[in-house]
Amino acid sequence: MGQQLNQYINEIHDFDRSILSNDKHSIYVVDENFRIIYHNLAYLKFAEENGGEPTISKKYSYGANVLDAISGDLKAIYKDKLLKIISLGKGDKLIYECSSNKVYRLFMQKIYPLRNKKGLLFLNALAVEEGINKNSTNPIIENYLQQNGFINQCSNCRRTQRKNESEIWDWVGNWVEKQPKNMSHTICPICFEYYWKNN
Ligand SMILES: [Zn+2]
Repeated sequence: MGQQLNQYINEIHDFDRSILSNDKHSIYVVDENFRIIYHNLAYLKFAEENGGEPTISKKYSYGANVLDAISGDLKAIYKDKLLKIISLGKGDKLIYECSSNKVYRLFMQKIYPLRNKKGLLFLNALAVEEGINKNSTNPIIENYLQQNGFINQCSNCRRTQRKNESEIWDWVGNWVEKQPKNMSHTICPICFEYYWKNN
């Protein structure tokens, strides 16, 4: 698998591999035929925690087509959407609900088209619990309040930086809808790679 990974990783434009593997959110990259050419550890971890393993790593590992995970009419719609993102070279963001029978869960999927038009990078972030718990409408601000008194939100993917683990950026659903007053807009490492470093 390591060999295969190295072979594929050379094809990923725009991103530094260490930035992708350090992110705690599930990230995968597909080529222009929607075959998986890279995924990070969080991708496997998420599958494991959600009962997807070992099926996920067998079925949706390198070379698997991500469209095969979708059935019915949605497959063609999603494919059209992805083709448009590649050809226009303009990223997009989808908010979707994927609840289990026990928990209500909201996800954000940020899609970055590779600039060589040869694929897409997907970042899948689960909204943090306190942001989606219907009984508690306020996220725990102390977890995100930086020393300068501001909360750092990435102006692109809208993830919010943790205070004590600054390398971790959570997607806080509440703050996407309504921002707290002391919100400071910044850029997370993934978006920095994509929007700034390579331009
Ligand atoms: Zn970002």
